[in-house]
Amino acid sequence: MAQQPIPFWAYLIIGTGVTVTSLIVDMQTESDKLKLFVYIGIIFFAVGIIKLLFNLIFNRGSINIAPKVKVEKKLIQQNQQKTSVTVACPRCKVKLHPKFKFCPNCGLKLN
Ligand SMILES: [Zn+2]
Repeated sequence: MAQQPIPFWAYLIIGTGVTVTSLIVDMQTESDKLKLFVYIGIIFFAVGIIKLLFNLIFNRGSINIAPKVKVEKKLIQQNQQKTSVTVACPRCKVKLHPKFKFCPNCGLKLN
């Protein structure tokens, strides 16, 4: 399995958290040491918003890229089906990969 991408809400939570925390700390200490973190938080928040918008667009399927992605997924599924095809051993009926030369269960020589 491919690694799951970071969901948009994680960016929103991190962005909001970092921004608010930095602002509060800066206000309390009457400094702007954490100003950089405020900007980082805003960037995270913006990325979250962009991801959210992308999600909405893809889910509606109103963009041309969406059907292409579906076709690619279908191809991947077909490939997976091809590689997961099994044959049964003629003697012990155990399921085998078609490329096996011998049955690992009973030792029968295969084609
Ligand atoms: Zn066998």
